[in-house]
Amino acid sequence: MVHLTINGIPVEVEEGTTILEAARKINIDIPTLCFLKDINEVGDCRMCVVEVEGNRGFATACIQKVAEGMVVKTSTPAVIEARKIVLDLILSNHDRECLTCTRNGTCELQKLAQEFYVDEIKYQGSRNRHKIDDISPSIVRDFNKCILCRRCVATCKNVQGIGAIDCVNRGFESCISTVENKSLNDVNCTFCGQCIEACPVGALKEKDSTEIVWSKLRDEDTYVVVQTAPAVRAALGEEFGMPIGTNVTGKMVSALKHLGFDKVFDTNTGADFTIIEEGNEFLERFKNNGVLPMITSCSPGWVKYIEMNYPELIPHLSSCKSPHQMFGALIKTYFAEKEKIDPAKIFVVSVMPCIAKKFERTRDDMQGAGYDDVDAVLTTRELARMIKQAHINFVDLEDSKFDSPMGEATGAGAIFGVTGGVMEAALRTVQEKVTGNAFEKLEYESIRGMDGIKRAEVDMNGTKVKVVVASGLKNAQIIMEEIKSGKADYQFVEIMACPGGCIMGGGQPIRTSKERSTIDIRGKRASALYSIDEKSIIRKSHENPVVKKIYEEYLGEPGGHKAHELLHTTYVKREKYNLGE
Ligand code: SF4
Ligand code: SF4
Ligand code: SF4
Repeated sequence: MVHLTINGIPVEVEEGTTILEAARKINIDIPTLCFLKDINEVGDCRMCVVEVEGNRGFATACIQKVAEGMVVKTSTPAVIEARKIVLDLILSNHDRECLTCTRNGTCELQKLAQEFYVDEIKYQGSRNRHKIDDISPSIVRDFNKCILCRRCVATCKNVQGIGAIDCVNRGFESCISTVENKSLNDVNCTFCGQCIEACPVGALKEKDSTEIVWSKLRDEDTYVVVQTAPAVRAALGEEFGMPIGTNVTGKMVSALKHLGFDKVFDTNTGADFTIIEEGNEFLERFKNNGVLPMITSCSPGWVKYIEMNYPELIPHLSSCKSPHQMFGALIKTYFAEKEKIDPAKIFVVSVMPCIAKKFERTRDDMQGAGYDDVDAVLTTRELARMIKQAHINFVDLEDSKFDSPMGEATGAGAIFGVTGGVMEAALRTVQEKVTGNAFEKLEYESIRGMDGIKRAEVDMNGTKVKVVVASGLKNAQIIMEEIKSGKADYQFVEIMACPGGCIMGGGQPIRTSKERSTIDIRGKRASALYSIDEKSIIRKSHENPVVKKIYEEYLGEPGGHKAHELLHTTYVKREKYNLGE
């Protein structure tokens, strides 16, 4: 252990601790900008400078390790002045358009400018001008607001193992770019959106879909149906100041009804269809020596990744569409027929924790009924924006229920939003189908938790099935290399592009670097979904009465002709470009 004092307060910490961590231990706040715990610890921006007795000059608290007897001062006039200069320099080359910026109110730079009372721009000089990249269906990059903190670069490279972006050029010309400065649309980006979650400012954001949704809601001739993914309800409340991990299902449904959607459906029901189809596909492959391991396909960032990086492994991917695409196809067919609505007049909006879903809906073979399965994807953040625009008092809303006839979902559908959830939901159905026994215990503890890779073996009447669950694309890469080299003996693989699963998707509320360092955001959001599952009366997808009815009345057998036409898709080999290749 090492002993030191910070602002006169003694503190004891383990050797190797940084000054920043030691200060946080005794509730002393040191501002940071480029720092992102375990991801970007480079000490570049120098916002966290502190004075250390005996040191010449300042120390950078986010990387400087503590030493025995160290005397640290975090808020002397000299320190405050130094931090103000850092801010003045950043702001001198920044597009200061706070009023029209997505991050107005949640921007870490704006907050620091307020705290340090920056009431004028000190240094006026040349400014870099960058072209805005808004070509992709998922991400908009405006580097006129970039502060070169590199949190996005480190996230893309170190967490996702992709390296679609990097810092190029030197000095005043430095900027974040892609190979040959192409649009993100034309490089090896998966649209996972983890860089947006990492960015402290408004340089990265999702492609806006609120305008088109508002216009459809205004149009009396359009029947607007909305569906909401499991992970949205575990995080939407955060946008309204509610504690992380609050389940806001009822309020969310009320808000959507207030906004004027004609029907509010639950994508959890779509997830139940996915389990039926995916479970059936797995059993077919398992019994008939099909391509194994079978890999889940509900995370579109992951699907784009395998198409670009491991096209030879595409036959391993389940042909199932993701839950919202399946559900969209059913809304435009089964629901439209039942309610006698012309499907051409139905506009399906999916509220998702994910920005890759914006890309997914535009893929070929996502038009099961001859129309786009889904017409617009809103992120959790965009839905929050619409609720705020409508001045709905979200926190005080009464709870409402999803609409029938497609509103009933199971606990299995709810846990789709967390890493391991798809596998657990599938095993509940597959194990019962194989063994013929109804299991009392439905929790598969070995594939729960936030580890990046989780391996387990499931006994099905004496037959062992090896499964593996991975979240985050760097972990996915490890599993793909195992499969490619022939070392893997798994039968079933679940992959989610985002670390922790959809609860941590690129469309979820953005939390600050400090919150990411000090709060178990993943754990809290995951608990919200597991508790929905625990409280559900029906916890297995194959017992969902809505699902059973639609198969009986409309789809026929799981994996049958109609189910294939509406609920399955195909994949393509994609070109991959990478920096340095
Ligand atoms: S990035 Fe932050 S400081 Fe810059 S314009 Fe947007 S809100 Fe304002
Ligand atoms: S969206 Fe994902 S893959 Fe694309 S640049 Fe951002 S972090 Fe990298
Ligand atoms: S885009 Fe955002 S995260 Fe990336 S370097 Fe610029 S400010 Fe930092």
